[in-house]
Amino acid sequence: MKNIVIFGAPGSGKGTQSDLLVKKYGFKHISTGDVLRAEIKQGSELGNTAKSFIDKGQLIPDELMIDILAATYDALCPCEGVIFDGFPRTIPQAEALKKMLAERQTGVCGMLELDVPEEMLMERLINRGKTSGRADDNAETIKKRLDVYHNQTTPLIEWYEKEGLRHKVKGFGSLEEINDALCAVIDTL
Ligand code: AMP
Repeated sequence: MKNIVIFGAPGSGKGTQSDLLVKKYGFKHISTGDVLRAEIKQGSELGNTAKSFIDKGQLIPDELMIDILAATYDALCPCEGVIFDGFPRTIPQAEALKKMLAERQTGVCGMLELDVPEEMLMERLINRGKTSGRADDNAETIKKRLDVYHNQTTPLIEWYEKEGLRHKVKGFGSLEEINDALCAVIDTL
């Protein structure tokens, strides 16, 4: 079973590429953003809490996210493999993921980092906002989300590098080119 972290800034194409990988490999896809948006839609208590953070472009507290992640993972497994999209976003989340998987006699086999120039991210997110219907795809919140990414999430690059799991992939060009580059790494894991 392959546990793969797809990593990158907001707008780096994690969701789009995850969908393509699911089709090719039959993996399950855990997008913590999608899980939270579904809770918001249902009007659950968790959804209401999540909304107050998401609308401000802030991260949901680690303890809450870690519980959600474990429950989502257990509901999907056993399976061929899982793509973690949007999790982990902080070092405590990465440590919790490592522990959770170790308790299940498994681990992350690779972290695939989609590398996209900063100026492309803003443009992609603004364009996505025209059709996504996402409340957080507006200029002000996008800026905040990119700041949060740089401050709280990028330290994970070094964390995964030290774990020997980081693979950097060119995250711009055609969807097929990007997907081929990701698959070339996955096939070695
Ligand atoms: P995403 O769809 O991955 O861009 O996530 C949208 C929003 O959901 C983020 O800006 C956060 O507010 C929240 N979120 C998603 N995943 C996490 C996570 N792993 N930790 C904390 N907050 C998260």
